[in-house]
Amino acid sequence: MDTISVKNLTVTYNKKPAIKGINLEIGESSIIGIVGPNGAGKSTLLKGILGLLPADTGEVQIFGKSIKDSLKRVAYIPQKEQFDWDFPINVSEVVMMGRYPYLSLFGSPKESDKEIVNRVLEKVEMKKYANTQIRNLSGGQQQRIFLARALAQESDIYFLDEPFVGVDAKTEVAIFNLIKELKSEGKTIMIVHHDLSKVKEYFDKVILINQILVAFGNTSEVFTEELIHKTYGGQLTILQKAEQLLIDN
Ligand code: ADP
Ligand code: MG
Repeated sequence: MDTISVKNLTVTYNKKPAIKGINLEIGESSIIGIVGPNGAGKSTLLKGILGLLPADTGEVQIFGKSIKDSLKRVAYIPQKEQFDWDFPINVSEVVMMGRYPYLSLFGSPKESDKEIVNRVLEKVEMKKYANTQIRNLSGGQQQRIFLARALAQESDIYFLDEPFVGVDAKTEVAIFNLIKELKSEGKTIMIVHHDLSKVKEYFDKVILINQILVAFGNTSEVFTEELIHKTYGGQLTILQKAEQLLIDN
C-alpha cells in the first residue's frame, strides 16, 4: 500500500487552477523535496493533499484511507507567514497543539501529553523557553517550536512548507538532523524547498512542479538540467544558478 496516493488532483482559486491533474504514488519512507518556482503551486499541493483546500477533481489517500481518517498520522508545518504571530500563546501551548488529535473533545491534556511536550522541547533544544510567548522568539527558534509541535503529534508523515526560510544556519542543520532521524524511524517527510543548492544533499526524491507535475523520482534521475529548465521556464536568474550548481556537482 502506498503511504500517499494522489490521483488527478486539481485545486483552483476563483476558477483558476493552481495545480492541475497531479498524480503521485509515494511508497517507502523517504525525504522528498517539492521544488518549483514562486507561485508554482507547491503550498497548494500540500494543502490539497491535507484536505485544507477543496479538490476540484481527484482523490487523495493516506495509507489507503481518506485524509479525514488519517489526521493523527499526518503532521503539517505551514509556511511561516501563514501563522498569526501576534496571537498570545506561549511555547508549550503551541507544542501541546500537536497533541490535540489525541485529546478527547474538550478534554484536558494528560500527564503523558505533558511529558511528550517536554521531551520534544528538549529534542529541539528549546526547553528553557517553555513559558515564553512565541512572538518573542527569533525566526530560528519559532521554526524549532513548529517542528516540536509536529514531533509531539507522533505522526507517520510530515509535511513541511519552507521550513528553512528565515532560520539561522545552526538551526537549519539541527532541523535537518531531526528530519533524518524521522526517516530512520521509517517516516515519510515532504518538504517544500526553494534553495536549489541543497536539493541533492537533502532529498532522496524530488517532485518538480509548475502547476502540473513536471517530474517525480529519485533526485539523481529527476534533478537534471533538462527537467529543471522545464520546471522553471523563463525564470532565468534561478536557472543560471541551477546550471552553475549542476556544473559544480
Ligand atoms: P508556491 O507555494 O509554489 O509559491 P502557491 O501554492 O502558494 O505557490 O500558489 C499557487 C498559485 O495560486 C499562485 O498563482 C498564487 O497566486 C495562487 N494562490 C495561492 N493562494 C491563493 C489564494 N488564497 N487565493 C487566490 N489565489 C491564490
Ligand atoms: Mg508556498
